[in-house]
Amino acid sequence: MLLLPHNPNAFTRSPLDRAGHRRRDAEWLADARKADATRVIPFFERRPFVTEEDGRAAPGWLGAHALARITAPDDLLLFLGLDAEGAAHFAVEISEASLLADIGRFDDLRALGPRLSHGDLAILGCAKSIFEWHARHRFCANCGQRSCIAEAGWKRECPACKAEHFPRVDPVVIMVPTLGERCLLGRQKVWPRGMHSALAGYVEPGETVEEAVARETLEEAGLRVREVRVHSTQPWPFPHSLMIGALADVENDDITIDGNELESARWFTRDEACQLVAGNHPDCFAPPAFAIAHQILKSWTQG
Ligand SMILES: [Zn+2]
Repeated sequence: MLLLPHNPNAFTRSPLDRAGHRRRDAEWLADARKADATRVIPFFERRPFVTEEDGRAAPGWLGAHALARITAPDDLLLFLGLDAEGAAHFAVEISEASLLADIGRFDDLRALGPRLSHGDLAILGCAKSIFEWHARHRFCANCGQRSCIAEAGWKRECPACKAEHFPRVDPVVIMVPTLGERCLLGRQKVWPRGMHSALAGYVEPGETVEEAVARETLEEAGLRVREVRVHSTQPWPFPHSLMIGALADVENDDITIDGNELESARWFTRDEACQLVAGNHPDCFAPPAFAIAHQILKSWTQG
């Protein structure tokens, strides 16, 4: 178990040990696929199989004996890791969903999120982001030939040019600009009325996290950043981003909006930010606790 600072974000702190050295151990994997203790979570079109009771959802784990019944030879079997008792956990992207229709359902992970436990979200989010990557990377980016799944789902190899391809993670900076006792939140035109959130953008090649925060804050809102404090990070499996959450102290308060990115932006006092976090602001609301933007804003209200 890694001893790391507490991370409040959804999709973090998986209870599974990834046991990465087993991904290349074909004999061990073959035994694990048949073991009584093994658990398998099916996915269909990147949606996890879940059961739901009294408003709480849970992954619909199946035993290893179900694998032969629900999977086709070409279905993607992903080794997720080991639980505290050493039981192997797999996820499988199946091609026929109707076989399980009477015991649960396949559902959208983003919609399910708040009803799943923290640990279950971390496990399902990891599996989803890998399945998303496979779905978008079936062909070799080097020579164009169809590539093959390797290392229990954690790699693709090209049989023609021998190139290796690994699951990608796209870094995104997401930041709340602050100036004294005020913070700035923006809104996009497509969001529900009243919703305001942090600014965000992809980290570009050749820049640091801090430089990306400064560039995006200037581009989107016309604010010049003096100091960047990284708050926390969050794997975000839509499809495979890593959100890098930050507070950005800025030196000016005259906002210039990039109309392509934002519809508007406004300053909120610390009292208003507390209302946004609590969900009782009179005319605006912030994303739910599930989103890192909520956690960054919450930390600022406590600062
Ligand atoms: Zn190739």
